[in-house]
Amino acid sequence: MKNETDNFVNFLRKKMTSKVVTLVGSDSVSDPRDRLVNKSKVCIKPKTTKEVSIILKEANQRGIQLVPVGGSTGLVGGQIAESDHQVSISLEKMNAIHFSEEDNLVTVQAGAVLADIKKVTSDAGRFFPLSIASEGSCQIGGNLATNAGGLNVLRYGSIRDLCLGIEAVLPNGNIVSSMKALTKNNMGFDIKSLLIGSEGTLAVITGAVLKTYPLPIDPMTAIISINEPAEALNLYNVASNKFGDTLMAFELIKCTGVDFLKKAGFKVRYPFSKRAPWIILIDFDVHVASVNLREEVEKTLCEVFDKNWVNEIVISNSLEQKREFWRMRELIPSANRRIGSLCSNDICVPIKKIPEFIKEADQTLMAISDKIEINCFGHMGDGNLHYNVFPISEESRESLEQYRPEIIKNINNLVRKFSGSISAEHGIGRLKSAELKLYEDPGKFNAMLAIKSAIDPKGILNPGVIFNKGSVKLKQV
Ligand SMILES: Cc1cc2nc3c(=O)[nH]c(=O)nc-3n(C[C@H](O)[C@H](O)[C@H](O)COP(=O)(O)OP(=O)(O)OC[C@H]3O[C@@H](n4cnc5c(N)ncnc54)[C@H](O)[C@@H]3O)c2cc1C
Repeated sequence: MKNETDNFVNFLRKKMTSKVVTLVGSDSVSDPRDRLVNKSKVCIKPKTTKEVSIILKEANQRGIQLVPVGGSTGLVGGQIAESDHQVSISLEKMNAIHFSEEDNLVTVQAGAVLADIKKVTSDAGRFFPLSIASEGSCQIGGNLATNAGGLNVLRYGSIRDLCLGIEAVLPNGNIVSSMKALTKNNMGFDIKSLLIGSEGTLAVITGAVLKTYPLPIDPMTAIISINEPAEALNLYNVASNKFGDTLMAFELIKCTGVDFLKKAGFKVRYPFSKRAPWIILIDFDVHVASVNLREEVEKTLCEVFDKNWVNEIVISNSLEQKREFWRMRELIPSANRRIGSLCSNDICVPIKKIPEFIKEADQTLMAISDKIEINCFGHMGDGNLHYNVFPISEESRESLEQYRPEIIKNINNLVRKFSGSISAEHGIGRLKSAELKLYEDPGKFNAMLAIKSAIDPKGILNPGVIFNKGSVKLKQV
């Protein structure tokens, strides 16, 4: 295999005019949670879609396995090559961003970094709503490949809802271009939607046309102390019934998240006079056309307070204060990484069942071990919880590793019981491929397999991602 990879690399070095082949440094592709190690020794960095096409066609003919990599912030190992005969392909050199004032659309190459796209659009007076804590590193190709979600899904949807057109290269080297900037397009199958969320198993995404929105004018942020998730649900029901479309984010944070910030060395200003057992963070887009709903929102929050549903409410009165509130939420994933979770569960359950789910999951896990603690936080407004399990301070991750499979199995079983999803926004990658087979509807799973086998019969694109080994029947060519 080593010779075949060498021959492939030599072919590319001769064929391509630009310097496309680099040796991968040990830290250039990594797993943010330090569970997997990237074993690829070679990374190809094409500069054009045509080059991507040549690379895939040649790899397909030679049976070389390719692992697409974006900003390497993925949390389920999809970007991590599992053997040294796999070759990474990065689109970091394809990072052009073009904003069109005529139609307020932004056309991007897949290697563009999310924060740069947000900057270009905001400089043009528009808003690209995808907001995730990894936005300084992740690339739009990776965002599309994982159907990234984040903080504003409640109002604007995930990236699938923000993407109008896509360009990609299939494993046989064929270029699929669906870059028409059309809101209505029923010319047969929606290939764009199929490729979004396919985690580099069906195609290498090379470009996209994305929607932008008016910049929200001074959204109002409220941070609220509550005693338990049931109160969060009451509040969510009131806020969404009254303010529906103006709700931009509705986040739930357990106090453990704030404790972890301190433990991990992050300094944040605590907004409450007393320790909050649970925290809710809400963003309201109060300027709708010429109407300012701020007073209406304040009145509603006062009513909620009078009903004793909440302990304390703090409403931001400056941009700096707003940033402080959000900093607390946005730093939690980094604090979690510094502390090191035993397992992280990115799950979705129907919103109305969230309090019941949290109660039952806590009880179930405590019965497995009393040496764990749970840091539960997430985008409650779209049902997405990050239900993450950590060793208590006195214990190490290694000493509790034996409980990991049982914990994961119990959480997944509960998610199934509550009609939820075992992957809300991070995808399946390598880490959840075995679970997908167990927890996905068999009809849907087999349909996905049939699509994979038809588009990538030799299994050269990201083998082991979404479908675990043995699932995909490779064509003997
Ligand atoms: C601190 C932190 C916070 C995060 N918060 C969120 C969050 O709120 N919401 C959320 O959804 N995610 C979140 N994530 C996860 C991660 O940032 C997203 O999954 C992101 O979309 C991955 O983009 P990337 O460019 O880093 O892709 P990578 O990690 O490099 O790759 C991810 C997957 O996409 C594939 N891929 C990458 N580029 C391409 C391409 N051009 N064509 C085809 N396939 C490709 C890879 O093969 C892999 O399977 C967070 C991660 C971190 C570290």
